[in-house]
Amino acid sequence: MSDAQKIYQDDPKQRLISIFIGAVLLPSLALSYVAIDFVQRLAAGRKLSEIKRAEAEIYYIDKELSGTAQARAREAARVVGTETLVDGRPEVVRAALAAHGESEVKFESLHLEGPASLLIVRHQVEKARKGNGELPRELLTALESLDATEGEDSVPWIGEDGTRGTLRFKFACGYVHGQLIRDYFEHEWNNPEGTLVVRVTEPDGAVVYENAPTPDGRFEVKRTMESPSFKGLKLFLRYRDTSIEQEVNRWKTWTLCLIGFIDLMLGAGLYLIYSNVKRELHLSRLKSDFVANVSHELKTPLALIRLFAETLELGRVPGEQKAQQYYRVINKESQRLTQLINNILDFSRIEAGRKEYRLASADVGRIVADVVEAYRFQIEQQGFRLEVAIDDDLPRVTADKEALAQALLNLVNNALKYTRDEKFLRLEVARRGDDQVTVSVADHGIGVAKSEQKKIFEKFYRAEDSLVHETKGSGLGLSLVQHIMDAHGGSVEVESAPGRGSTFTLVMPAEADVRTPRPPSSGIEGDGGAAQPAAQEWH
Ligand code: ADP
Repeated sequence: MSDAQKIYQDDPKQRLISIFIGAVLLPSLALSYVAIDFVQRLAAGRKLSEIKRAEAEIYYIDKELSGTAQARAREAARVVGTETLVDGRPEVVRAALAAHGESEVKFESLHLEGPASLLIVRHQVEKARKGNGELPRELLTALESLDATEGEDSVPWIGEDGTRGTLRFKFACGYVHGQLIRDYFEHEWNNPEGTLVVRVTEPDGAVVYENAPTPDGRFEVKRTMESPSFKGLKLFLRYRDTSIEQEVNRWKTWTLCLIGFIDLMLGAGLYLIYSNVKRELHLSRLKSDFVANVSHELKTPLALIRLFAETLELGRVPGEQKAQQYYRVINKESQRLTQLINNILDFSRIEAGRKEYRLASADVGRIVADVVEAYRFQIEQQGFRLEVAIDDDLPRVTADKEALAQALLNLVNNALKYTRDEKFLRLEVARRGDDQVTVSVADHGIGVAKSEQKKIFEKFYRAEDSLVHETKGSGLGLSLVQHIMDAHGGSVEVESAPGRGSTFTLVMPAEADVRTPRPPSSGIEGDGGAAQPAAQEWH
């Protein structure tokens, strides 16, 4: 088996990473790739449809302009009347228009062609062809006049007298350029909020009209106008505040950002799942460590107790002093077992949600003093310098005395366990502000690294220090302390630096305005206070 395969099979973390990469990360990367590609295509399609929209816009402008021209021709035709239209000579039409107050030269031509006159011309052509094939002169002139209508615009027309025909007209260039186009764009064109910008130019590029300047001349679409009235004129169109390119790019950026955001969320979700599963794995490893630790912790005191009890039973003890020492060992080891079993029982009660606290008004100073006095001898026997400071005027707290004593004992126990050289222990009970009481346990031990100060309150967690691993422990003590403080509406604080010692502080809410007056003598500094029977022992 290759090394890589071995690592993969042995290390659950590696396996977890492989599962995540295979099951989630790679598919989501592939999805993102597809999504990005799709966005690119969509952007191209969007650009095309925007251009089509602009082209449709410019097409309608062209159509409307020619509609406007036809409407103007009809108006003029109505003003001059059928007879003048049938005559059709420009000077006659112009005179008629002038007679009606139209001084401006609007038309180069304006006349009416009736279907009747066309029929006559057609009939005469046929007659001439059937004869000698020569066309008479008048007919040629009539045909020429029909040809001369090239370049004119036309519109069906029904006069007020019922005359039907085709109205042919050609606007004067000056009128189209100077007024007709401007009138249309300024009064008829539907351009809400001026979002569209147009420019009309002559074929040589001279600007005829524009509704807003476009210095760089960058228009989205252009169109050469088809209707004879505007023949050769060019229409240009763009959007006022943005270009299609900019719009599409903006949309693309937003969509890509959205995909990026979704990826980010996915990544964050993945990380959360990963860290939770990792935590579970870690916890299960801690649990198996715990089982090993606890079995070891149970075996050692039991072996000692058995050994010394057997030695005593067989009467193989050299002297009374030795016997006393054996009794002390048996007592100490059985108390250590009691403490361990208490912690485990409490822990299982907490896990099962069955842990109950008997809360009642209590004097924290008294509880701490009792614990100190019960264990002073053994602390000092281990070579520790003990300092105790209890404030005189402490408020009372609502607490479960036993639980509080157990929390304190766990802290004291840890201080003793995790001190190497400078054996010092200080217990202090003080008021904090008006509404809190604190109990702190300080040592000059190995300390806890900043990165582990939160983790040590987790169940089963033991710091990565060699001394910690040489020392027996279940990793339950501080998680119990935390639970007890939570149940009291308080908290646990830790202040520590590796090699410099630690201070663990229990913070509890004080009962409102209930003080515990204490004579100065009961504040313990060094000695004094009644010894309590040892309920628990540290190891
Ligand atoms: P245990 O002591 O049984 O390991 P605890 O929950 O009481 O479990 O403590 C968790 C961890 O916190 C310990 O393993 C140790 O690494 C660290 N710790 C607790 N108290 C102290 C202390 N006073 N000084 C240094 N480290 C400590």
